[in-house]
Amino acid sequence: MFNTTKALVLREVRYKEADRMLTLFTSTDGKITAKARGALRKGSKTAAATQQLTYGEMTLFGNRGKWTVNEASVIEPFSGLRTDIADFALGCYFAECLEALSVEDQPDAALLQLGLNSLYALSKKMYPPRHIKAAFELRLMCLAGYEPNLSACAVCGSEAPEEPILSLADGHISCRRCRNAGSTVQLDTESLEAMRYIVSAPAKQLFSFRLSDGALNRLSAAAEQYLLTQTERRFGTLDYWKSVK
Ligand SMILES: [Zn+2]
Repeated sequence: MFNTTKALVLREVRYKEADRMLTLFTSTDGKITAKARGALRKGSKTAAATQQLTYGEMTLFGNRGKWTVNEASVIEPFSGLRTDIADFALGCYFAECLEALSVEDQPDAALLQLGLNSLYALSKKMYPPRHIKAAFELRLMCLAGYEPNLSACAVCGSEAPEEPILSLADGHISCRRCRNAGSTVQLDTESLEAMRYIVSAPAKQLFSFRLSDGALNRLSAAAEQYLLTQTERRFGTLDYWKSVK
């Protein structure tokens, strides 16, 4: 069975002498594993489009649940990521997040679009990396079913909580004086407004917000800590990005 699909390469591992084992986020089948035979051989026609963090069109052959890449051409190489080790590392973190929060064999157009838009913004240096990272993380959590409730203080109901804090395990906000036990991240009015924007903005305008440096620091901490707390795991690519940025 042949299937032509668009696919983002989330992960690429060398296999045997010249093959690549790929984790792909495809438009038709969601997250799948596929083998690209001979992709590392000189002159291979599938070499370019089967590289990590490349978006391409692929013809896949499926047999008893196993996929092989027959043809592959590049749609978007995200070239800007390949000349900057820190931006490439951050792109790999986005890919690891997408892999962790997507479901095998289940197409998810919104999740794929978020990944592509974030890699594009990073590649074109449209915003500072941590601005893109925070918006990606928070929006990803919303799409994956972990949307925090940012509307009002969970204790007193105030829609403009005083010295707002985000409760990481419960995913709600409260005023500092209303806080309960548990891990929290301190926000401020500006970073809370940005979070509210990110959870509800149209996909194409996700990054179109402005923040002072201090507020961006708080937003960054909140988005990252929230993702790590809710997923209950570590991301090797995140540690790596922090070591090279
Ligand atoms: Zn309150």
